[in-house]
Amino acid sequence: MMMKIGITGGKGGTGKSTVAVALAVELGKKYNVLLVDMDADCPNDHLLLDVKRKLMHNVEQRIPMWDMDKCIKCGACGPVCKTNAIVSIKKSNPIFVDSQCNGCGACVIKCPVKAIGWDKKDIGYIYSGNNYGIDLLSGELKINEPLSEVVINSMKKIVEGKNEDYDFIIYDTAAGTHCDVISALEDCDLAFAVTEPTPLGAHDLGLILQLLKILNKESSIVLNMADIGDKRLVEDIAKDYQVEIVARIPYSKEIIEDYSRGVPIREKNISYLADMVSKKSDVTEHKPLQNKK
Ligand code: SF4
Ligand code: SF4
Repeated sequence: MMMKIGITGGKGGTGKSTVAVALAVELGKKYNVLLVDMDADCPNDHLLLDVKRKLMHNVEQRIPMWDMDKCIKCGACGPVCKTNAIVSIKKSNPIFVDSQCNGCGACVIKCPVKAIGWDKKDIGYIYSGNNYGIDLLSGELKINEPLSEVVINSMKKIVEGKNEDYDFIIYDTAAGTHCDVISALEDCDLAFAVTEPTPLGAHDLGLILQLLKILNKESSIVLNMADIGDKRLVEDIAKDYQVEIVARIPYSKEIIEDYSRGVPIREKNISYLADMVSKKSDVTEHKPLQNKK
C-alpha cells in the first residue's frame, strides 16, 4: 500500500529539504517515489536534486471583473471586501487592487446590477522533473501573489491522481505551522519533524509537534547537526510530547560538501529512516520501477 510521508519542521533552515530529498533518493533505489515540494513560496528541492524542471501547467485564481458600463456607482462593493481589494466611493467607479483579492465572490454577490463578473489570473506554476530515479512535483507561487494555498491545493489534486503510481509519496512542507503546512500534513500517514539543537529549533519543534498531535499524525523527530549545540533542549521537548528522536544526523564535512555541491547527502541515518518507513509501509510487492535510469 502506498504511504505518504511528511517532512516538516517548525523552523526554517533546519535541513528539512535536505532530509526530504535524501530520503526520497534512498527510497528511490528500491521503490517508485514521488517527492512533492510543498513550499510554494520558496521551493528548492529541484536545486538539491539538480533537476531542470518542466512546466506542467499554470495555477489560476478567479478574480472579479467589472463592467463599468453597467456600474451605477453605488459604492456597495467596497465595504463587503474583507481584504480591502476594492476602493469604492459613491458616484465614482470602484478601483480594484487584484493582488489583494482572494476570489471570495462577496462583491459579485453584492452588486445590485450584476456589473461584476469573473475573470482569471495566473498566480503560480506547477513543475515536474526527474533525477536520481525519483519523480519531483514542485509548486511555485508568483512573486507578489499572496495565495500559496491555491498552489498547494492544486498540487494535492495532481497527487491524488497519482496515488496508484507510487510506493511512497514524500511531502516536503514549508516551515512553520500555517495553513499550507496543515494542508500538506493532513494528507500524510506519518511525519518527521526535522530540527536542530538550538533554542529556536527546540521552541519551533514544540509548535510543530503540537500541530501533529492535533492532526493525530504518527510523528518522529530527526535531529540535524546533532553533535553541535545543546541537544538536551530538543530531548526535553521530545520527552514533553512523547515523540521519539529516531535519527541524529551529525554536522560533518562530507554532508556540507554534498550540500554545497548540490547533491543529495549520503548518511547512515538516512538509510535507517528509509528502512524504518519501508518496514512501516507494508509495501511487500512494490510497483514496477518506471523511472530508473
Ligand atoms: S472577490 Fe472577494 S476579495 Fe476579491 S475583490 Fe471581491 S470581495 Fe474582495
Ligand atoms: S456594487 Fe456594482 S454598481 Fe455598485 S459600485 Fe460596485 S460595481 Fe458599481
